[in-house]
Amino acid sequence: MRFSMWCCWSFDGLFGGLLKVVKACSDILPTRTNLCQRKIPLDPACAVCNQHDEMVAHALWGCPMARNVWAMVAGNLQKRCSAAEDFYSLVRELMSVLTTKEVEVWPIVSWVIWNARNRYLCDRKQTHPSNILLGAMTLLQEYQRLN
Ligand SMILES: [Zn+2]
Repeated sequence: MRFSMWCCWSFDGLFGGLLKVVKACSDILPTRTNLCQRKIPLDPACAVCNQHDEMVAHALWGCPMARNVWAMVAGNLQKRCSAAEDFYSLVRELMSVLTTKEVEVWPIVSWVIWNARNRYLCDRKQTHPSNILLGAMTLLQEYQRLN
């Protein structure tokens, strides 16, 4: 990736989102599982699908809400297995198979999925997967125009 940590810290829009994805590699996004580990009394089940504990890999990759978005992304991202043991394993696998362009697409789509989840959980406003993907592609084009 062409992003430096300085860029991530200095621009609160797109790069702030990318930083959140990078932080997710450390499992510090406030998923229900992570909040439970911080002694916050919550049911760790995913509040969107209630089918799996809400870990970072599930929220950004394995949850049906995320899968509906990834299914519309062309190329390797669409075809990858939905199961991921943990976020590190997922990132390692993806980085070994994705093209350079897909490596740029992946964190942006992940960030927009995370925001769509939060919008759904906080405001009960569900964003259609095609609109989530459109938002991500718009941000990617903005990023590419600036670089
Ligand atoms: Zn889920």
